[in-house]
Amino acid sequence: MAHELAPLPYDYTALEPHIDETTMRLHHDKHHQAYVNNLNAAIEKHPELAKHAAEDLLRNLNTVPEDIRAVVRNNGGGHVNHTMFWQIMKPQGGGAPTGKIGAQITKDFGSFDEFKKLFNEAATKQFGSGWGWLVFEGGKLKILTTPNQDNPLSQGLYPILGNDVWEHAYYLKYQNRRADYLAAWWNTVNWDEVNKRFEHAAK
Ligand code: MN
Repeated sequence: MAHELAPLPYDYTALEPHIDETTMRLHHDKHHQAYVNNLNAAIEKHPELAKHAAEDLLRNLNTVPEDIRAVVRNNGGGHVNHTMFWQIMKPQGGGAPTGKIGAQITKDFGSFDEFKKLFNEAATKQFGSGWGWLVFEGGKLKILTTPNQDNPLSQGLYPILGNDVWEHAYYLKYQNRRADYLAAWWNTVNWDEVNKRFEHAAK
C-alpha cells in the first residue's frame, strides 16, 4: 500500500500566532505531500519494499537498494519527520513539560529553561536545512541535530521531539530570524504526545 499524507490534526490557523496559516498550508499540503509522492515513486521501482513502514526503511537504510537509497533517505525522512512534527504540536500547547519527560528534562538538564536554551542554540547553529532533536541514549536525554531530512532512527535512536529548521518552516513569518521562530515554537508543543514518545524511547 502506498504511503499517505494524513490530514493535519487541527486547523491550519490553530497554531497562530506562533506559526501562521499560510506556512502551515504550504508546509503540510505542498512540502509534506511532495515527500510522500517522491517516496511512493521510489517504492514503485522496488515493490518488495511496499510492505515496510517508512520508519523501518529509515532504520534499515543500508538494506534499501542503492538506486533509491538517497531518495528514500530524503523523502522517507521528510514523511516521517513531518508526521511526528504535526503530532507533537497542538493549539494552546506549550507551557512547562509535564509527566515523565518533565522530570527527565529537569534531571538531565537542570531545568526546562536550560534545556530550551541548549536546544535552541543547537538548532540555531545547524547550518542550512535540518532538524533539532531530543533523543534518549544510555539512560540520558540528548540534544542532536541532523542535516536535511535525516532522522535519528537511522542512527538507532528514537526521536522524542524534533523541530524543523528548514527555511520553509518559518521564513514567511520570521524571515531570517530563526532564533525567534525557535523561541516561539515552544508555545505549540504538545507535551502529552511528547510523553508518549518518551515512553517509547525509554522502552
Ligand atoms: Mn519541513
